[in-house]
Amino acid sequence: MPTAEEPMIDERYIGLRGVVEYLCSDECLPRLPGTPGGLAARQYVEAAFDRLGLEPAGEEGYLQHIPAIGGANVIGQRRGRSERTIIVGAHFDACAIDGGVNPGASDNAASVAVMLEVAKAITAGPLLERSVVFAGFDAEEPPYFQTHRMGSRHFVNKEAVPLSRIDLMICLDMIGHAIGDGAESEIADTVLVLGAEKCPQVSEVLAHVPAVPGVFPRRLDVDLIDQLSDYAGFQDAGVPFLFYNNGRNEHYHATSDTPKSLDFPKMAALVEHLTGVVTVAANAPIEPFVYEPDGQGHGMTLETIRALLPTLPPSARLAQQAPQLLATLADKQSATGLNERDWQIVRRIFLAIDDGLLDKRPW
Ligand SMILES: [Zn+2]
Repeated sequence: MPTAEEPMIDERYIGLRGVVEYLCSDECLPRLPGTPGGLAARQYVEAAFDRLGLEPAGEEGYLQHIPAIGGANVIGQRRGRSERTIIVGAHFDACAIDGGVNPGASDNAASVAVMLEVAKAITAGPLLERSVVFAGFDAEEPPYFQTHRMGSRHFVNKEAVPLSRIDLMICLDMIGHAIGDGAESEIADTVLVLGAEKCPQVSEVLAHVPAVPGVFPRRLDVDLIDQLSDYAGFQDAGVPFLFYNNGRNEHYHATSDTPKSLDFPKMAALVEHLTGVVTVAANAPIEPFVYEPDGQGHGMTLETIRALLPTLPPSARLAQQAPQLLATLADKQSATGLNERDWQIVRRIFLAIDDGLLDKRPW
């Protein structure tokens, strides 16, 4: 019999769909740091870590408080043979919006659900060389975004795990939805993977992860975008990272970001892919992974953009020129590499694609 202190989770709220349903339920909304909804979400993640048997790795049990805002990160670990560490993190708060409540299913309940299923697979699997720390981050969204109160920056600044031990931080944000209209599975099942170009060992890890049907990881150079999520503090501290993201969609920061907008088979495939990434990374030769701030992935970025090009509405800016521009840039990339001006063109094409995914209305 469980004692009164042991956190309990209703059986309905277990598994990918269950986690999302709970985090998007009235009990957790609005899911803002320091509010009853935010507290319920945090307690859910704590109870889930406990249920999985993760070792508490916060300052008070699983919790690392962010005192000024009444929020807290939730941190648990599965110890490996060495103290070198892989972090897997997803924020559990949701953005406040005008004129309604944002359920935050894709942003970011889906990632929390995926993280918990990866934690389940890792805790049930064989002992790994490295330790794996799972972190539910609070306060990712505005007004805390990129401030010292942002949960993941607080984690880094206070060294919840000594930074010198961390070989890789895997950030999950907005990974629950299909990309585009779902007509082409090679587009719909795409997950964008950013940051590997900044660490040779991380690129090597990705090369050794088995392919999983139902998800298509495509590399993108992180320098293409502004710092968008919880990897930012780790990147600034020189920690190698991977940022998993499906781009924005029309439900981004809106009342329509409900569980209905998610692609659960894609999420299940992502659990399998990410369990592979964590396992391969955790068992890589025990020596520090090296962060290379100038690392580039231009060739892979061009391939990914070409694959996503069909999502550009015909009337979007650059839609007519983009195929020819990309072909020319790909030739130049293999001949001499791209210069800064070329890279700005790549960036403009990618931003047009991202705008198109965000706003599906006719241009
Ligand atoms: Zn997010």
